[in-house]
Amino acid sequence: MKAAVYYGPGDIRVEERPEPKCEAGGLVVRVRCCAICGTDLKLATVGNPRCHPPRIIGHEMVGEIVHAGQDVRGFAAGDRITLATTVACGECPYCARNLGNLCPNAKPISYDYDGAFAEYLAIPRAAVSGGNVIKVPDSVDDEYAALAEPLSCAINAQELAGVGSGDKVLIIGGGPLGALHAALAKAIGAADVAVVERSELRLSLLRKIEGLTVIDGVHEDVSQVVSERTSGLGADVVIVCAPTRQAQEDSLQYARKGGAISLFASLPKGEADITLDSRAIHYGELRVVGASDSRPEHVRRAIELMAGGKIDLRGIVTHRVSLEDIHQGLELMKNTQSLKVMVYPRESADA
Ligand SMILES: [Zn+2]
Ligand SMILES: [Zn+2]
Repeated sequence: MKAAVYYGPGDIRVEERPEPKCEAGGLVVRVRCCAICGTDLKLATVGNPRCHPPRIIGHEMVGEIVHAGQDVRGFAAGDRITLATTVACGECPYCARNLGNLCPNAKPISYDYDGAFAEYLAIPRAAVSGGNVIKVPDSVDDEYAALAEPLSCAINAQELAGVGSGDKVLIIGGGPLGALHAALAKAIGAADVAVVERSELRLSLLRKIEGLTVIDGVHEDVSQVVSERTSGLGADVVIVCAPTRQAQEDSLQYARKGGAISLFASLPKGEADITLDSRAIHYGELRVVGASDSRPEHVRRAIELMAGGKIDLRGIVTHRVSLEDIHQGLELMKNTQSLKVMVYPRESADA
């Protein structure tokens, strides 16, 4: 089968690989499609020491089970599924607190196990028993199901930041995750959702999404727009999806007193020292919260939102490429020409 394999920083090759075998307690899935994640782009540019080469990458997938291993219960050939990527150990103090996304012994699929930029994916026994495999009902389209994993990370972040019905939410950074955050905030019932973006190309993609307020971070005065939209108070929740110091430092000034700031995007190692106005945090009773990854319950919630027609994801997948053209897809993301890029491992869906 064809697969996209990580060999080292900036070195991703599409090559022929043997079809994976099904281990006892595991599954083999025929991949229908798999979206390119920002972390895949990172592997294709600067690399990541957590990913052990040679490794088939890709984790934002949907597929159908072709083999269910011995002793597997609850799944059968033909079931359509998606994945929670991080396979937690289930035994450490974090897992005991139901914080498997923070498990220090976690083995993410596409870092420690082969991923889904391939025709077939083997899902290990630990992922099946860990609850990482989530069934997709017929009412959810393939491409939306493949967005369940990135959406689940947004769900984790908005839970931690406390986004609620009637809130005014400001999102800084309108890449694929910024767009997913916006869709989620609307689904939760936020009264006003605005996205700040600086790239002209992405601005034009965001403007095509219905019901979304788009702020041009270069040509508009963001503070003034936020002030106008919040009666001078500031946003209830500010979500920083742009991976820059400036965006993180600026975020405080857009939040109302008692509001929350989610530092969703991570900064590169060694470039993450920022300056925050501690008086604004102290006197404003601001909550600055992190968010990293997600747990199976968040992926399940993402699928529920989709199945119930509660979330509108139209306009978020902007490009589709074949596995052979994955470098073209990575390039589209790097140049901010796209939101989500979907990779199809086979030319025709029924092959
Ligand atoms: Zn991802
Ligand atoms: Zn653990």
